[in-house]
Amino acid sequence: MRVLYVSTELHPALKTGGLADVNAGLPPALRAQGADVRLLLPAFPALRAAAQAPRRRIALGAMLGCPDVGLLPCRLGAVPTWLIDAPAYYDRPGNPYLDASGADWPDNALRFALLGAVAARFADGGIGRWRPHVVHGHDWHAGLAPAYLAARGGARPASVFTVHNLSYQGHFAAESFDDLGLPAHFFAIDGVEYHGGVNFMKAGLHFADRITTVSPTYAAEIQTADYGCGMEGVLHARAGALLGILNGIDTRVWDPAQDPALAAPFTRAAPAGKRACRAALLAAAGLAGDAAGPVLGVVSRLTAQKGLDLLRAAVAPLLAADGRVVLLGSGDAGEEAAWQALARAHPGTVAVRVGYDETYAHRIFAGADAVAVPSRFEPCGLTQMYAMLYGALPLVRRTGGLADTVSDGPDGTGFVFDAAELPALQAALARLLQSWAEPARWQAMQARAMGADFGWARAARRYLALYRELRPQADPPPTPA
Ligand code: ADP
Repeated sequence: MRVLYVSTELHPALKTGGLADVNAGLPPALRAQGADVRLLLPAFPALRAAAQAPRRRIALGAMLGCPDVGLLPCRLGAVPTWLIDAPAYYDRPGNPYLDASGADWPDNALRFALLGAVAARFADGGIGRWRPHVVHGHDWHAGLAPAYLAARGGARPASVFTVHNLSYQGHFAAESFDDLGLPAHFFAIDGVEYHGGVNFMKAGLHFADRITTVSPTYAAEIQTADYGCGMEGVLHARAGALLGILNGIDTRVWDPAQDPALAAPFTRAAPAGKRACRAALLAAAGLAGDAAGPVLGVVSRLTAQKGLDLLRAAVAPLLAADGRVVLLGSGDAGEEAAWQALARAHPGTVAVRVGYDETYAHRIFAGADAVAVPSRFEPCGLTQMYAMLYGALPLVRRTGGLADTVSDGPDGTGFVFDAAELPALQAALARLLQSWAEPARWQAMQARAMGADFGWARAARRYLALYRELRPQADPPPTPA
Protein backbone atom coordinates (compact mmCIF):
# COMPACT_ATOMS: atom_id res chain seq x y z
CA MET A 1 0.00 0.00 0.00
CA ARG A 2 1.63 3.24 -1.14
CA VAL A 3 0.44 6.32 0.75
CA LEU A 4 1.46 9.92 0.14
CA TYR A 5 1.09 11.70 3.49
CA VAL A 6 0.60 15.42 2.87
CA SER A 7 1.05 17.94 5.67
CA THR A 8 2.99 20.97 6.88
CA GLU A 9 4.77 20.42 10.17
CA LEU A 10 6.77 17.68 11.82
CA HIS A 11 8.08 17.21 15.34
CA PRO A 12 10.83 17.96 16.35
CA ALA A 13 11.93 20.14 13.42
CA LEU A 14 8.83 22.31 13.08
CA LYS A 15 5.87 22.38 15.44
CA THR A 16 3.03 24.77 16.13
CA GLY A 17 0.71 22.22 17.75
CA GLY A 18 -0.33 18.61 18.07
CA LEU A 19 -0.37 18.12 14.29
CA ALA A 20 3.43 18.00 14.32
CA ASP A 21 3.37 15.23 16.91
CA VAL A 22 0.83 13.24 14.90
CA ASN A 23 2.87 13.61 11.73
CA ALA A 24 5.94 12.32 13.54
CA GLY A 25 4.12 9.37 15.11
CA LEU A 26 1.60 8.01 12.62
CA PRO A 27 3.71 7.52 9.45
CA PRO A 28 6.37 5.37 11.19
CA ALA A 29 3.59 3.32 12.81
CA LEU A 30 1.99 2.75 9.40
CA ARG A 31 5.35 1.80 7.93
CA ALA A 32 5.88 -0.66 10.78
CA GLN A 33 2.67 -2.36 9.64
CA GLY A 34 3.92 -2.67 6.07
CA ALA A 35 2.53 0.43 4.36
CA ASP A 36 4.91 2.37 2.11
CA VAL A 37 4.10 5.79 3.54
CA ARG A 38 6.06 8.80 2.32
CA LEU A 39 5.79 12.41 3.41
CA LEU A 40 5.15 15.44 1.24
CA LEU A 41 5.89 18.71 3.08
CA PRO A 42 6.75 22.28 2.07
CA ALA A 43 10.49 22.98 2.33
CA PHE A 44 10.13 25.44 5.19
CA PRO A 45 13.63 26.37 6.43
CA ALA A 46 13.35 24.29 9.63
CA LEU A 47 12.32 21.18 7.68
CA ARG A 48 15.00 21.70 5.05
CA ALA A 49 17.61 22.02 7.80
CA ALA A 50 16.44 18.73 9.32
CA ALA A 51 16.47 16.78 6.03
CA GLN A 52 18.75 13.76 6.03
CA ALA A 53 20.31 12.00 3.06
CA PRO A 54 19.14 14.59 0.51
CA ARG A 55 19.14 13.45 -3.11
CA ARG A 56 18.97 15.27 -6.43
CA ARG A 57 16.23 17.86 -6.89
CA ILE A 58 13.38 16.93 -9.22
CA ALA A 59 12.26 19.97 -11.23
CA LEU A 60 8.52 20.47 -11.64
CA GLY A 61 8.68 23.84 -13.42
CA ALA A 62 6.41 26.79 -12.75
CA MET A 63 3.26 26.08 -10.73
CA LEU A 64 0.56 28.36 -9.30
CA GLY A 65 2.50 31.56 -9.72
CA CYS A 66 5.73 30.14 -8.32
CA PRO A 67 8.41 30.27 -11.00
CA ASP A 68 10.56 27.26 -10.20
CA VAL A 69 9.07 24.47 -8.12
CA GLY A 70 11.03 21.33 -7.33
CA LEU A 71 11.02 18.31 -5.08
CA LEU A 72 13.87 17.48 -2.72
CA PRO A 73 13.88 13.76 -1.92
CA CYS A 74 15.29 13.08 1.54
CA ARG A 75 14.48 11.38 4.82
CA LEU A 76 12.93 13.02 7.86
CA GLY A 77 13.10 10.85 10.93
CA ALA A 78 13.12 7.44 9.33
CA VAL A 79 10.48 8.28 6.75
CA PRO A 80 11.17 8.89 3.04
CA THR A 81 10.13 12.45 2.31
CA TRP A 82 9.73 14.89 -0.53
CA LEU A 83 10.15 18.53 0.43
CA ILE A 84 8.55 20.98 -1.97
CA ASP A 85 11.26 23.41 -2.92
CA ALA A 86 9.47 26.64 -3.80
CA PRO A 87 11.62 29.39 -2.24
CA ALA A 88 9.28 32.22 -3.23
CA TYR A 89 6.52 30.59 -1.15
CA TYR A 90 8.21 28.60 1.58
CA ASP A 91 11.64 30.05 2.31
CA ARG A 92 10.40 32.29 5.09
CA PRO A 93 11.52 32.14 8.72
CA GLY A 94 9.38 31.39 11.75
CA ASN A 95 5.83 30.16 11.85
CA PRO A 96 4.77 28.39 8.64
CA TYR A 97 1.40 30.14 8.45
CA LEU A 98 2.00 33.59 9.95
CA ASP A 99 4.39 36.47 9.37
CA ALA A 100 6.50 38.02 12.12
CA SER A 101 3.62 40.23 13.23
CA GLY A 102 1.34 37.21 13.70
CA ALA A 103 -0.82 37.93 10.64
CA ASP A 104 -1.56 35.31 7.97
CA TRP A 105 0.85 35.55 5.03
CA PRO A 106 -1.16 37.40 2.37
CA ASP A 107 -0.42 34.72 -0.24
CA ASN A 108 -1.44 31.75 1.93
CA ALA A 109 -4.06 30.64 -0.61
CA LEU A 110 -1.38 30.06 -3.25
CA ARG A 111 1.22 28.76 -0.79
CA PHE A 112 -1.04 25.95 0.38
CA ALA A 113 -2.77 25.40 -2.95
CA LEU A 114 0.71 24.50 -4.17
CA LEU A 115 0.93 21.77 -1.54
CA GLY A 116 -2.30 20.21 -2.83
CA ALA A 117 -1.36 20.66 -6.47
CA VAL A 118 2.03 18.99 -6.03
CA ALA A 119 0.35 16.10 -4.20
CA ALA A 120 -1.91 15.60 -7.21
CA ARG A 121 1.14 15.57 -9.53
CA PHE A 122 2.08 12.24 -7.97
CA ALA A 123 -1.06 10.70 -9.44
CA ASP A 124 0.47 10.05 -12.84
CA GLY A 125 3.43 8.14 -11.42
CA GLY A 126 5.95 10.51 -12.97
CA ILE A 127 7.71 11.37 -9.72
CA GLY A 128 10.36 8.88 -8.78
CA ARG A 129 8.23 6.30 -10.60
CA TRP A 130 6.22 6.11 -7.40
CA ARG A 131 2.45 6.31 -7.73
CA PRO A 132 0.48 6.37 -4.47
CA HIS A 133 -2.64 4.29 -3.99
CA VAL A 134 -3.84 6.85 -1.47
CA VAL A 135 -3.17 10.55 -1.00
CA HIS A 136 -3.77 11.37 2.66
CA GLY A 137 -3.98 15.10 3.42
CA HIS A 138 -4.11 16.76 6.82
CA ASP A 139 -6.06 19.87 7.83
CA TRP A 140 -6.92 22.83 5.64
CA HIS A 141 -3.39 23.28 4.33
CA ALA A 142 -3.79 20.08 2.35
CA GLY A 143 -7.50 20.59 1.68
CA LEU A 144 -7.08 21.21 -2.04
CA ALA A 145 -5.26 17.92 -2.66
CA PRO A 146 -8.57 16.00 -3.02
CA ALA A 147 -9.91 18.80 -5.24
CA TYR A 148 -6.92 18.70 -7.61
CA LEU A 149 -7.19 14.90 -7.71
CA ALA A 150 -10.90 15.11 -8.47
CA ALA A 151 -10.19 17.65 -11.22
CA ARG A 152 -7.93 15.13 -12.98
CA GLY A 153 -10.82 12.72 -13.48
CA GLY A 154 -10.22 9.14 -14.60
CA ALA A 155 -8.05 6.72 -12.69
CA ARG A 156 -6.49 8.41 -9.70
CA PRO A 157 -5.30 7.61 -6.21
CA ALA A 158 -7.97 7.52 -3.52
CA SER A 159 -8.06 10.54 -1.25
CA VAL A 160 -8.35 10.66 2.53
CA PHE A 161 -8.63 13.95 4.37
CA THR A 162 -8.09 14.21 8.12
CA VAL A 163 -9.48 17.05 10.20
CA HIS A 164 -7.23 17.85 13.14
CA ASN A 165 -8.98 21.08 14.05
CA LEU A 166 -12.07 22.30 12.23
CA SER A 167 -11.78 25.83 13.57
CA TYR A 168 -8.86 26.67 11.24
CA GLN A 169 -10.29 26.51 7.75
CA GLY A 170 -8.20 28.43 5.23
CA HIS A 171 -10.93 30.77 4.04
CA PHE A 172 -9.98 33.20 1.27
CA ALA A 173 -11.64 35.84 -0.90
CA ALA A 174 -13.49 34.64 -3.99
CA GLU A 175 -10.94 36.28 -6.31
CA SER A 176 -8.26 33.86 -5.15
CA PHE A 177 -10.14 31.07 -6.96
CA ASP A 178 -9.02 32.42 -10.33
CA ASP A 179 -5.38 31.68 -9.50
CA LEU A 180 -5.90 28.09 -8.35
CA GLY A 181 -6.18 26.43 -11.75
CA LEU A 182 -9.27 24.44 -10.78
CA PRO A 183 -12.22 23.92 -13.17
CA ALA A 184 -14.61 26.89 -13.02
CA HIS A 185 -17.51 24.72 -11.89
CA PHE A 186 -15.60 23.81 -8.70
CA PHE A 187 -16.48 27.27 -7.39
CA ALA A 188 -19.89 26.12 -6.20
CA ILE A 189 -21.68 24.94 -3.11
CA ASP A 190 -20.85 21.43 -4.28
CA GLY A 191 -17.19 22.35 -4.40
CA VAL A 192 -14.72 24.74 -2.79
CA GLU A 193 -17.06 27.68 -2.37
CA TYR A 194 -18.22 28.65 1.10
CA HIS A 195 -20.24 31.80 1.81
CA GLY A 196 -18.90 33.51 -1.28
CA GLY A 197 -15.24 32.70 -0.65
CA VAL A 198 -12.83 29.83 -1.24
CA ASN A 199 -12.54 27.49 1.71
CA PHE A 200 -9.77 24.88 1.73
CA MET A 201 -11.31 22.91 4.61
CA LYS A 202 -14.61 22.71 2.76
CA ALA A 203 -12.74 21.53 -0.35
CA GLY A 204 -11.19 18.67 1.58
CA LEU A 205 -14.48 17.72 3.19
CA HIS A 206 -16.32 17.80 -0.12
CA PHE A 207 -13.87 16.12 -2.47
CA ALA A 208 -12.11 13.51 -0.34
CA ASP A 209 -13.21 9.92 -0.77
CA ARG A 210 -13.07 9.50 2.99
CA ILE A 211 -12.87 12.00 5.84
CA THR A 212 -11.38 11.13 9.17
CA THR A 213 -10.98 13.08 12.33
CA VAL A 214 -8.93 12.45 15.40
CA SER A 215 -11.43 11.03 17.86
CA PRO A 216 -14.82 9.29 17.64
CA THR A 217 -16.50 11.89 19.88
CA TYR A 218 -15.22 14.81 17.77
CA ALA A 219 -16.48 12.99 14.65
CA ALA A 220 -19.98 13.08 16.14
CA GLU A 221 -19.67 16.60 17.58
CA ILE A 222 -18.62 18.27 14.33
CA GLN A 223 -21.88 17.24 12.71
CA THR A 224 -23.68 19.61 15.10
CA ALA A 225 -24.00 23.39 14.98
CA ASP A 226 -22.22 23.77 18.34
CA TYR A 227 -18.97 22.24 17.10
CA GLY A 228 -19.23 22.26 13.31
CA CYS A 229 -17.74 25.73 12.77
CA GLY A 230 -20.20 26.18 9.92
CA MET A 231 -19.19 22.87 8.28
CA GLU A 232 -21.83 20.79 10.08
CA GLY A 233 -24.04 20.66 6.99
CA VAL A 234 -21.28 19.31 4.74
CA LEU A 235 -20.18 16.90 7.42
CA HIS A 236 -23.68 15.69 8.08
CA ALA A 237 -24.21 15.14 4.36
CA ARG A 238 -20.97 13.14 4.25
CA ALA A 239 -21.56 11.25 7.50
CA GLY A 240 -21.24 7.94 5.64
CA ALA A 241 -17.69 8.85 4.61
CA LEU A 242 -16.64 10.21 8.03
CA LEU A 243 -14.75 8.21 10.62
CA GLY A 244 -13.20 9.12 13.97
CA ILE A 245 -9.85 7.47 14.72
CA LEU A 246 -8.30 8.36 18.04
CA ASN A 247 -4.74 9.68 17.81
CA GLY A 248 -1.92 7.87 19.51
CA ILE A 249 1.13 9.38 21.11
CA ASP A 250 4.77 8.74 20.41
CA THR A 251 5.85 6.57 23.30
CA ARG A 252 9.48 6.80 22.14
CA VAL A 253 9.36 10.53 22.97
CA TRP A 254 6.98 10.28 25.90
CA ASP A 255 8.33 7.62 28.25
CA PRO A 256 9.09 8.58 31.86
CA ALA A 257 11.39 5.57 32.16
CA GLN A 258 13.85 7.06 29.68
CA ASP A 259 13.12 10.73 29.27
CA PRO A 260 16.37 12.72 29.32
CA ALA A 261 14.52 15.86 30.46
CA LEU A 262 13.54 14.38 33.83
CA ALA A 263 15.27 14.72 37.19
CA ALA A 264 14.72 11.00 37.75
CA PRO A 265 13.18 8.18 35.73
CA PHE A 266 10.06 6.44 36.93
CA THR A 267 7.59 3.79 35.82
CA ARG A 268 4.22 2.50 36.87
CA ALA A 269 5.86 -0.33 38.81
CA ALA A 270 8.55 1.93 40.30
CA PRO A 271 6.96 5.38 40.63
CA ALA A 272 9.34 6.76 43.29
CA GLY A 273 11.26 8.95 40.79
CA LYS A 274 8.16 11.05 40.30
CA ARG A 275 8.72 12.59 43.72
CA ALA A 276 12.12 13.90 42.62
CA CYS A 277 10.54 15.24 39.43
CA ARG A 278 7.92 17.06 41.48
CA ALA A 279 10.52 18.69 43.71
CA ALA A 280 12.62 19.63 40.67
CA LEU A 281 9.62 21.19 38.96
CA LEU A 282 8.67 23.30 41.98
CA ALA A 283 12.28 24.49 42.22
CA ALA A 284 12.52 25.24 38.48
CA ALA A 285 9.23 27.13 38.62
CA GLY A 286 10.39 29.16 41.61
CA LEU A 287 7.60 27.87 43.82
CA ALA A 288 7.65 26.97 47.48
CA GLY A 289 8.52 23.29 48.01
CA ASP A 290 6.77 20.88 50.35
CA ALA A 291 3.36 21.52 48.80
CA ALA A 292 0.84 19.53 50.81
CA GLY A 293 -1.75 19.98 48.09
CA PRO A 294 -1.55 18.81 44.48
CA VAL A 295 0.63 20.45 41.84
CA LEU A 296 -1.59 21.26 38.88
CA GLY A 297 0.20 21.61 35.53
CA VAL A 298 -0.91 23.19 32.26
CA VAL A 299 0.92 22.98 28.92
CA SER A 300 -1.14 24.64 26.26
CA ARG A 301 -1.70 27.13 23.54
CA LEU A 302 -3.52 30.02 25.21
CA THR A 303 -6.59 30.39 23.03
CA ALA A 304 -10.29 30.51 23.85
CA GLN A 305 -10.55 26.87 22.71
CA LYS A 306 -8.55 25.69 25.69
CA GLY A 307 -10.88 27.08 28.38
CA LEU A 308 -8.04 28.30 30.58
CA ASP A 309 -9.94 31.47 31.42
CA LEU A 310 -12.29 29.17 33.37
CA LEU A 311 -9.38 27.55 35.15
CA ARG A 312 -7.98 30.94 36.18
CA ALA A 313 -11.25 31.67 37.91
CA ALA A 314 -11.36 28.29 39.65
CA VAL A 315 -7.96 27.82 41.28
CA ALA A 316 -8.58 29.50 44.66
CA PRO A 317 -9.64 26.28 46.49
CA LEU A 318 -6.59 24.48 45.12
CA LEU A 319 -4.31 27.20 46.47
CA ALA A 320 -6.20 27.20 49.78
CA ALA A 321 -5.42 23.47 50.03
CA ASP A 322 -1.69 24.32 49.69
CA GLY A 323 -1.68 23.28 46.03
CA ARG A 324 0.42 24.82 43.25
CA VAL A 325 -0.23 25.82 39.66
CA VAL A 326 2.49 25.61 37.00
CA LEU A 327 1.52 26.88 33.57
CA LEU A 328 3.50 26.92 30.33
CA GLY A 329 1.78 28.44 27.34
CA SER A 330 1.58 31.08 24.71
CA GLY A 331 -1.05 32.55 22.46
CA ASP A 332 -3.62 35.30 22.98
CA ALA A 333 -1.95 38.35 24.49
CA GLY A 334 -4.89 38.97 26.85
CA GLU A 335 -4.82 35.43 28.20
CA GLU A 336 -1.04 35.54 28.63
CA ALA A 337 -1.32 38.80 30.58
CA ALA A 338 -4.15 37.48 32.75
CA TRP A 339 -2.13 34.41 33.75
CA GLN A 340 0.92 36.53 34.46
CA ALA A 341 -1.21 38.74 36.69
CA LEU A 342 -2.47 35.65 38.54
CA ALA A 343 1.12 34.56 39.14
CA ARG A 344 2.00 38.02 40.47
CA ALA A 345 -0.98 37.86 42.82
CA HIS A 346 0.11 34.45 44.14
CA PRO A 347 3.90 34.45 44.43
CA GLY A 348 5.23 31.10 45.55
CA THR A 349 2.12 29.17 44.56
CA VAL A 350 1.34 30.06 40.93
CA ALA A 351 4.11 29.99 38.32
CA VAL A 352 3.51 31.09 34.74
CA ARG A 353 5.96 30.86 31.89
CA VAL A 354 4.88 32.45 28.64
CA GLY A 355 6.63 30.83 25.71
CA TYR A 356 7.27 27.53 24.05
CA ASP A 357 9.63 25.12 25.77
CA GLU A 358 9.65 21.43 24.93
CA THR A 359 11.96 20.39 27.79
CA TYR A 360 9.98 22.30 30.39
CA ALA A 361 6.77 20.71 29.05
CA HIS A 362 8.20 17.24 29.76
CA ARG A 363 9.18 18.38 33.26
CA ILE A 364 5.70 19.69 33.96
CA PHE A 365 4.01 16.42 33.00
CA ALA A 366 6.53 14.51 35.12
CA GLY A 367 6.41 16.78 38.14
CA ALA A 368 2.71 17.62 38.24
CA ASP A 369 0.19 15.59 40.21
CA ALA A 370 -2.61 16.63 37.88
CA VAL A 371 -2.87 18.37 34.51
CA ALA A 372 -5.80 20.54 33.46
CA VAL A 373 -7.27 20.52 29.94
CA PRO A 374 -10.63 22.29 30.37
CA SER A 375 -11.16 22.78 26.63
CA ARG A 376 -14.37 24.14 25.11
CA PHE A 377 -13.66 21.79 22.25
CA GLU A 378 -10.76 19.40 21.74
CA PRO A 379 -10.49 17.34 18.55
CA CYS A 380 -8.25 14.80 20.27
CA GLY A 381 -5.84 16.49 22.64
CA LEU A 382 -2.46 14.98 23.33
CA THR A 383 -1.49 16.57 26.62
CA GLN A 384 -3.99 14.58 28.67
CA MET A 385 -2.39 11.40 27.31
CA TYR A 386 1.14 12.61 28.04
CA ALA A 387 -0.05 13.52 31.53
CA MET A 388 -1.54 10.08 32.18
CA LEU A 389 1.59 8.23 31.08
CA TYR A 390 3.60 10.51 33.37
CA GLY A 391 1.35 9.81 36.35
CA ALA A 392 -0.41 13.20 36.37
CA LEU A 393 -4.19 12.81 36.57
CA PRO A 394 -6.08 14.79 33.93
CA LEU A 395 -8.80 17.28 34.79
CA VAL A 396 -10.72 17.64 31.54
CA ARG A 397 -13.97 18.67 29.96
CA ARG A 398 -16.04 15.87 28.40
CA THR A 399 -15.52 16.81 24.76
CA GLY A 400 -13.78 15.33 21.72
CA GLY A 401 -10.77 13.18 22.41
CA LEU A 402 -10.77 14.18 26.07
CA ALA A 403 -14.04 12.27 26.44
CA ASP A 404 -12.53 9.29 24.62
CA THR A 405 -9.33 9.04 26.67
CA VAL A 406 -10.16 10.02 30.26
CA SER A 407 -12.62 8.17 32.46
CA ASP A 408 -14.13 9.37 35.71
CA GLY A 409 -15.81 7.40 38.49
CA PRO A 410 -14.71 4.58 40.80
CA ASP A 411 -12.40 2.98 38.22
CA GLY A 412 -11.43 6.26 36.62
CA THR A 413 -8.19 7.74 35.36
CA GLY A 414 -9.07 11.40 35.90
CA PHE A 415 -11.70 14.05 36.59
CA VAL A 416 -14.23 14.91 33.90
CA PHE A 417 -16.83 17.68 33.82
CA ASP A 418 -19.57 18.43 31.29
CA ALA A 419 -20.62 22.06 30.92
CA ALA A 420 -18.00 24.58 29.79
CA GLU A 421 -18.90 26.68 32.80
CA LEU A 422 -17.20 27.65 36.01
CA PRO A 423 -19.44 25.70 38.45
CA ALA A 424 -18.85 22.44 36.56
CA LEU A 425 -15.09 22.94 36.60
CA GLN A 426 -15.17 23.95 40.26
CA ALA A 427 -17.07 20.77 41.15
CA ALA A 428 -14.55 18.62 39.29
CA LEU A 429 -11.67 20.39 41.01
CA ALA A 430 -13.37 19.77 44.37
CA ARG A 431 -13.55 16.05 43.53
CA LEU A 432 -9.87 16.14 42.60
CA LEU A 433 -9.03 17.62 46.01
CA GLN A 434 -11.15 14.97 47.76
CA SER A 435 -9.30 12.21 45.92
CA TRP A 436 -5.96 13.82 46.75
CA ALA A 437 -6.92 13.58 50.41
CA GLU A 438 -7.16 9.79 50.04
CA PRO A 439 -3.66 8.71 48.96
CA ALA A 440 -4.57 5.08 48.30
CA ARG A 441 -7.34 6.14 45.95
CA TRP A 442 -5.10 8.67 44.22
CA GLN A 443 -2.34 6.11 43.73
CA ALA A 444 -4.79 3.58 42.29
CA MET A 445 -5.98 6.17 39.77
CA GLN A 446 -2.39 7.01 38.93
CA ALA A 447 -1.56 3.36 38.31
CA ARG A 448 -4.56 2.99 35.99
CA ALA A 449 -3.65 6.17 34.10
CA MET A 450 -0.04 5.09 33.66
CA GLY A 451 -1.17 1.68 32.41
CA ALA A 452 -3.16 3.08 29.48
CA ASP A 453 -2.09 2.00 26.00
CA PHE A 454 -1.89 5.13 23.85
CA GLY A 455 0.72 3.89 21.34
CA TRP A 456 0.20 4.55 17.62
CA ALA A 457 -0.19 0.88 16.59
CA ARG A 458 -3.94 0.80 17.18
CA ALA A 459 -4.64 3.95 15.17
CA ALA A 460 -2.30 2.79 12.39
CA ARG A 461 -4.30 -0.45 12.07
CA ARG A 462 -7.50 1.58 11.64
CA TYR A 463 -6.00 3.86 8.98
CA LEU A 464 -4.57 0.88 7.13
CA ALA A 465 -7.97 -0.81 7.15
CA LEU A 466 -9.46 2.37 5.70
CA TYR A 467 -6.83 2.54 2.94
CA ARG A 468 -7.51 -1.12 2.11
CA GLU A 469 -11.23 -0.49 1.93
CA LEU A 470 -10.53 2.23 -0.65
CA ARG A 471 -7.88 0.33 -2.62
CA PRO A 472 -8.37 -3.39 -1.91
CA GLN A 473 -6.15 -4.33 -4.84
CA ALA A 474 -3.12 -2.50 -3.39
CA ASP A 475 -2.08 -5.33 -1.10
CA PRO A 476 -3.02 -8.56 -2.85
CA PRO A 477 -3.38 -11.43 -0.40
CA PRO A 478 -0.26 -13.60 -0.36
CA THR A 479 -0.44 -16.35 -2.97
CA PRO A 480 -0.94 -19.75 -1.31
CA ALA A 481 2.18 -21.87 -1.23
P1 ADP B 1 -3.25 21.63 20.02
O1 ADP B 1 -2.77 20.88 18.82
O2 ADP B 1 -4.65 22.09 19.95
O3 ADP B 1 -2.32 22.72 20.43
P2 ADP B 1 -2.71 19.15 21.47
O4 ADP B 1 -2.95 18.74 22.87
O5 ADP B 1 -3.23 18.23 20.40
O6 ADP B 1 -3.28 20.62 21.28
O7 ADP B 1 -1.15 19.27 21.20
C1 ADP B 1 -0.39 20.27 21.79
C2 ADP B 1 1.07 19.89 21.71
O8 ADP B 1 1.87 21.07 21.83
C3 ADP B 1 1.51 18.97 22.80
O9 ADP B 1 2.62 18.21 22.34
C4 ADP B 1 1.97 19.96 23.90
O10 ADP B 1 2.86 19.37 24.80
C5 ADP B 1 2.63 21.01 23.05
N1 ADP B 1 2.64 22.35 23.61
C6 ADP B 1 1.61 23.23 23.67
N2 ADP B 1 2.01 24.40 24.19
C7 ADP B 1 3.33 24.25 24.47
C8 ADP B 1 4.33 25.12 25.02
N3 ADP B 1 4.04 26.37 25.39
N4 ADP B 1 5.59 24.64 25.16
C9 ADP B 1 5.89 23.36 24.80
N5 ADP B 1 4.98 22.51 24.27
C10 ADP B 1 3.72 22.95 24.10
